[in-house]
Amino acid sequence: MNSKFKFINIHTHIPENSPDVTAIYNLAGNENTIQNYFSAGIHPWYIDELNFESQLKSLEKSIQQKICLFIGECGLDKLKCSDFSVQQKVFSAQIELAVKYNKPIILHCVKAFNETLSLLKDKIETDKIIFHGFHKSAELAEELTSKGFYVSLGKVLKTHPEKAKLILQKTNPRNLFFETDDEPISIREMYKMASEISDKPIDFWMEQLSANFDRITSVKIEQFL
Ligand SMILES: [Zn+2]
Repeated sequence: MNSKFKFINIHTHIPENSPDVTAIYNLAGNENTIQNYFSAGIHPWYIDELNFESQLKSLEKSIQQKICLFIGECGLDKLKCSDFSVQQKVFSAQIELAVKYNKPIILHCVKAFNETLSLLKDKIETDKIIFHGFHKSAELAEELTSKGFYVSLGKVLKTHPEKAKLILQKTNPRNLFFETDDEPISIREMYKMASEISDKPIDFWMEQLSANFDRITSVKIEQFL
């Protein structure tokens, strides 16, 4: 395909090096940097409860790199038995870093929706937040995106196409992203599925999601690479 736009993979744990893909690789806990764009954050599953201050310090070092475009994934997860008050503390500190370095957040939110919103409220603009791996109702997607938040669809395109169809219908494309997360497939496949489900051509999604990416990162894609 000869598009002047790239496939944007807003969140992946598997590096994807292809000239027609811009992927945001989520830095693993033991990494400080990679060659391409990345996101860096302290995932609620991997908080070291006795040592989170030093985790935050080394995170701040990673964030200072220009090719770190996002903070995350980070957020709250009530299914994880780690201390919820520590999770909230570490998430709040990451919101502060996002504001300090003016970088958007890739959000991990499991069974802690209200607590997440109350920590974000009045701290950071809604249009700097991406709810990643979104698989909740189309109504919730509509509500979030009408407030300016972004939602990113991954696995749901494959596992629940009917639900994904409703989400794609009800959500302003301006507030959408696609991702592969930890799925060992190409982002092209996600675009292909979204295109079939939405009856909109892949080119439409390539152009729209590139514009969304430029807007949320305030960088042109070629700027640093
Ligand atoms: Zn992830």
